[in-house]
Amino acid sequence: MKNLLIVLLFMLLSNLSFAQQNFDTVKIRPLKITDNIYMLKGSGGNLGILIGKEGTLLVDDQFAPLSNKINGAIKTIDPGEIKFLVNTHLHGDHSGGNENFKRMGATIVAHDHVRERMTTEQVNKQLNRTTPARDADALPVITFPDKMNFHLNGEDVQLIHLDNGHTDGDIIVHFKKANVFHMGDAYVRYGYPFIDLSSGGSFSGFLSSLDKGLSFMDDNSKVIPGHGELASKNDVKILRDQLYDIREQILAALKKGKKVEEIPALGITDKYDPTLGKGFFKGKDFVLLAAEDLKATLPKKK
Ligand SMILES: [Zn+2]
Repeated sequence: MKNLLIVLLFMLLSNLSFAQQNFDTVKIRPLKITDNIYMLKGSGGNLGILIGKEGTLLVDDQFAPLSNKINGAIKTIDPGEIKFLVNTHLHGDHSGGNENFKRMGATIVAHDHVRERMTTEQVNKQLNRTTPARDADALPVITFPDKMNFHLNGEDVQLIHLDNGHTDGDIIVHFKKANVFHMGDAYVRYGYPFIDLSSGGSFSGFLSSLDKGLSFMDDNSKVIPGHGELASKNDVKILRDQLYDIREQILAALKKGKKVEEIPALGITDKYDPTLGKGFFKGKDFVLLAAEDLKATLPKKK
């Protein structure tokens, strides 16, 4: 059981951020969302930018070898300096370029827990692996516990801390006037979401974070997912409903006395696998991880 989880997590993390990639062939592709907000895709987490004469605000920065390409792509849209860099969470496919952008003059902003985790060695017990502390230049300079506001280029940008879902330092970035959101990995379109338990994530927190995000959105909202194509409120709601259904079924099975390792065989995700199972997480693997996590939230039997 534990071995299975270790293998599973190792596969996931290999896919997420530690795989050897040929960054030379990566192209940074911008998508205009409003007059001054763009989403950019490359390799790793989606980027968002707010441009204007007061300077550029960049959300996430992918991997370090891509920093020059990302900077170049941004400068072709707006030559102004990148004043602020917001990290949606600590993962290396979203924050790998921090050192480079700080050296270019950006002020890095993130949730308190992102800096805390980057400052210290991270020990992943499930993986039996240690990740060293990040370089001092990679660390966020400004951190916050709950909410933070930027007033820049005529836009009001709010950073909102979510529940402990994907990690314990997740935020969404809400461009309030434009009705645009960057969800980080609290909403992804690669299939079943990754829940990083060793970085403080939880399945229930992932769900309540989706609810929190949805509470700010309307039918005209544009949503930049952590990975995948630009989305709508309805896209977010579909994933939320699917995950709630999976959660209810897992909880029902656990309450009936099923063991965690018996739950993947119940076919809970069969109807979702054709769509959500295309990513690196197969339905059975996702259910196993979710069941393990949910079991810990149930009252212990006497
Ligand atoms: Zn992530």
